[in-house]
Amino acid sequence: MKYTEGSEIRDAKAPSGPIEERWEKRKFSAKLVNPANKRKLHVIVVGTGLAGGSAAATLGELGYNVTSFCYQDSPRRAHSIAAQGGINAAKNYRGDGDSIYRLFYDTVKGGDFRARESNVYRLAQVSVNIIDQAVAQGVPFAREYGGLLDTRSFGGAQVSRTFYARGQTGQQLLLGAYQALERQVAAGTVTMHTRHEMLDLIVSEGRARGVIVRDMVTGEIERHVADAVVLATGGYGNVFFLSTNAKGCNTTAIWRAHERGAYFANPCYTQIHPTCIPVSGEYQSKLTLMSESLRNDGRVWVPLRKNDTRAPGDIPEQERDYYLERIYPAFGNLVPRDIASRAAKNVCDEGRGVGPGGLGVYLDFRDAIGRLGRDAVEKKYGNLFEMYERITGENPYDVPMRIYPAVHYTMGGLWVDYDLQSTIPGLFVIGEANFSDHGANRLGASALMQGLADGYFVLPTTLGDYLADGPYNDVDEEAVAAAEIRVRDKIDRLLSVNGTRTPDSFHRELGKLMWDYCGMERTEESLRKALERIPELRAEFWQNVKVTGTAEELNQVLEKAGRVADFFDLAELMCLDALVRTESCGGHFRAESQDSDGEALRDDDRFAHVAAWERTPDGPVLHKEPLEYEYVKMTQRSYK
Ligand SMILES: Cc1cc2nc3c(=O)[nH]c(=O)nc-3n(C[C@H](O)[C@H](O)[C@H](O)COP(=O)(O)OP(=O)(O)OC[C@H]3O[C@@H](n4cnc5c(N)ncnc54)[C@H](O)[C@@H]3O)c2cc1C
Repeated sequence: MKYTEGSEIRDAKAPSGPIEERWEKRKFSAKLVNPANKRKLHVIVVGTGLAGGSAAATLGELGYNVTSFCYQDSPRRAHSIAAQGGINAAKNYRGDGDSIYRLFYDTVKGGDFRARESNVYRLAQVSVNIIDQAVAQGVPFAREYGGLLDTRSFGGAQVSRTFYARGQTGQQLLLGAYQALERQVAAGTVTMHTRHEMLDLIVSEGRARGVIVRDMVTGEIERHVADAVVLATGGYGNVFFLSTNAKGCNTTAIWRAHERGAYFANPCYTQIHPTCIPVSGEYQSKLTLMSESLRNDGRVWVPLRKNDTRAPGDIPEQERDYYLERIYPAFGNLVPRDIASRAAKNVCDEGRGVGPGGLGVYLDFRDAIGRLGRDAVEKKYGNLFEMYERITGENPYDVPMRIYPAVHYTMGGLWVDYDLQSTIPGLFVIGEANFSDHGANRLGASALMQGLADGYFVLPTTLGDYLADGPYNDVDEEAVAAAEIRVRDKIDRLLSVNGTRTPDSFHRELGKLMWDYCGMERTEESLRKALERIPELRAEFWQNVKVTGTAEELNQVLEKAGRVADFFDLAELMCLDALVRTESCGGHFRAESQDSDGEALRDDDRFAHVAAWERTPDGPVLHKEPLEYEYVKMTQRSYK
């Protein structure tokens, strides 16, 4: 796939000065909209997960006129509900040395020096407000005996800063955001459209001014215009078919915005989570995460010997290799996800993996149960243990869990500036859908933090600054009609192929290809193979896909086909981005770029930049945004 290099891109909104004052400075310089004018301004928010739900609720509370969309039957069913382990905040309730600066430092380092300092510092600052907000809403965070909020540790940190609600933190936080959202629905500031899928973005006179959506129950195509559009549509890990994401997660909303002119940043940065239930067969369509919080007490090991088929209980202590504790004594089992995933892959590649196919390692709670007692372990992780047992038929209180890395999160997403505005004026992107804060590797429990920081605190300020410059001209009717025609044409095209293969079969094949060639380890050869094969498979899709039913009814095959079509184009850009970045960093491991210990080897001279891709009729254009580090020294990351 050919690409050209365009001009450098800069974050024009990035503030300067002492880092701890930047967000304050930006907030003060942001223009305000007076309350009477807010009522006249209309904002569309697509997505009701933690990012979109919190944003719509807050914008409604501020008095804007908000329209909110999601494709589920309730905002509460957004994928955020699946988040298990917790949410980070620099509260330092434990007095264990945490601070805003340390959370900032851990996040920049954890992201392998590929995130913006200003953004990350703001995230760490705002993290403390999120906990207060959630507690005020009644989110039932775990508490210690004395009544204080409890915390636990997550990867990449030596302090205990993760707030949690058993293994259901996302669910509880989403219920908090949902209550706030429903309050605004009742107050009439937010109009909610469930079961509506955004299929195109309306851009009028260079500004994002609305969306075309399909009513998924009746098939009706609707136009909605507004003064600004916010995308909070989540991540695209399902391009790999098998992932821990909810089955519905897809790229359509952000891909459509990319086609309309929004740059796509760092598409190749994918997070592979080390602790998931291993794949068990060809029939499988979903993978299950075992929360990182389990690594607080679970110890990861494999047999010392290759091809050791003894039951774990029969393998004596001296014949076990607690390889994370051995290789990374400072962080032990709590090394970041990218490091733990690669280490698991390495021991399995050596022939020391356990379970069917040798693609698994043990996560063992024997010592924790001995130390704390079964009841204490059950209190902390009971629902996760139950989930594991239901899926595998094995009781993790008696035998170690078997786990293996799986696709989990995408650090890449639409490029946004410090204000969370994309390269299309008026199009704001929040939560997992943007690329903003995690660099090349996200630390555990930081996605919820970012989504809620964006939705509750950052966007409400920066969007106001944009809207204060309005009102903008009336929306160009031709732009609206053109967007609708594109949507109708695509649906007609999908229905008219009438081939022999299901959208799912194409998706499965594409996902396997991505996992094999652009997964945990990438090489020039594998990426070139992928870039050759993806267009062939896409061509076959458009000639041979079978979409049953019609457009004027509930049609899940049609929905799926549209999403898979977009995954093809996204997959191609991911492989191109991975090919061009000939360094290893975080979740992007190029086998050609590793040090003598097999760790990721960055090339800061050539790659300390965000890769922001523009889509043009002549092919992709790469714009580089240089990353500058004034506070954290760029070093080779070490967790030893
Ligand atoms: C199993 C699992 C466990 C996790 N645990 C944690 C954890 O413990 N801590 C942590 O910090 N992170 C965790 N994460 C990551 C975290 O859950 C997500 O990154 C985060 O919830 C994403 O929130 P979001 O609001 O950006 O998107 P989502 O929650 O994915 O919401 C997307 C919304 O957009 C809507 N949408 C999407 N496309 C369209 C469209 N075209 N039209 C209309 N609506 C659309 C959907 O309906 C939905 O409402 C976990 C992830 C997984 C998979």
